Amino acid sequence: MRVGIPRGLFFYHLYPQWKTFFNYLDWEVATSPPTNKKMVEAGVMMAVSEACFPVKVLYGHILELAGREVDYIFMPRLVSIERRSYICPKFMGIPDMLRAQIQGLPPLIDLCIDVSRNEGDLYRELDRWSKKMGLKSGRVRKAWNDSTRATCELEAICRQGHTLGEGIGVWEGKPAAKRGTGDLTIGVLGHCYALNDRLISLGLFERLREMGAAAVTSEMLDPQLIEEAAARLPKRVFWTVGRTMVGTALLLDQNPGVDGMIYLTCFGCGSDSMMAKIIEHRVNKPFMLLTVDEHSGEAGVVTRLEAFCDMLRRKRRLELAHNLSPYGEFLYSH
Ligand code: SF4
Repeated sequence: MRVGIPRGLFFYHLYPQWKTFFNYLDWEVATSPPTNKKMVEAGVMMAVSEACFPVKVLYGHILELAGREVDYIFMPRLVSIERRSYICPKFMGIPDMLRAQIQGLPPLIDLCIDVSRNEGDLYRELDRWSKKMGLKSGRVRKAWNDSTRATCELEAICRQGHTLGEGIGVWEGKPAAKRGTGDLTIGVLGHCYALNDRLISLGLFERLREMGAAAVTSEMLDPQLIEEAAARLPKRVFWTVGRTMVGTALLLDQNPGVDGMIYLTCFGCGSDSMMAKIIEHRVNKPFMLLTVDEHSGEAGVVTRLEAFCDMLRRKRRLELAHNLSPYGEFLYSH
């Protein structure tokens, strides 16, 4: 069997696990290529206009895979990947939306992944799928359990200072990308599928590197510390990604080595509209919200990044010259 995995949405976090899972079952895995303009145009034309940019891009990847020789396309119905937390509700309906809108689509494997209460629901779902596919449920369960170590491997790679996109390359055996070694350190927040897709983020990481700024993302930090920082909010954030972002922002805010933070959000994203506001109100470091959609141009993003980096450098010079912080506190006591 040959299964296609679209390079969109949670591909940037769970692809190693999914690939390992299918390989354990002796299935071949094909992925769509990195997003290109043609795929974006095709996705934008096909998706409903209310969909957010990353979902439109996913349509482009699905259309690309549909034109290939694959027996199935893996498009799980992600509900929850950790206890008491959820993924954006748009993920739940994606398989249905794709089936309804794209003619001649290869069959979708739409496993419902929901571990919000316990692992039991997921195992029952795997059993249901095993029966449908004529596979032994014990073998499928074991393949799933064994494949989770691939996510741990990816997370360990990223904690060495790699973004998820780079981490997946390293996990696949490619040489590690050069790290940024500039005079600035900037915390970069956003959904993994927006930050690590070069077409969606308009090359954010590369641009920062060229401007002499090293990017720090949530994957590079200790998840326990992120969780502890997020717990400082009066109410627990029940979106997995939202809680990670707020925890990352609060953690980086306390780090004197971090000069500022950039939050990349996609136009039309409901959860970002709330999380960005919460973070903006709670952090003291310079903060920039960068909103992108299918009409955004690289030049506009570059101009804003240059202005942000210039401001951070000017701020640092002023602090050193006047012994004053823009927050009204003395930096040094004599
Ligand atoms: S979280 Fe936001 S960007 Fe992600 S799928 Fe949902 S609406 Fe789209």
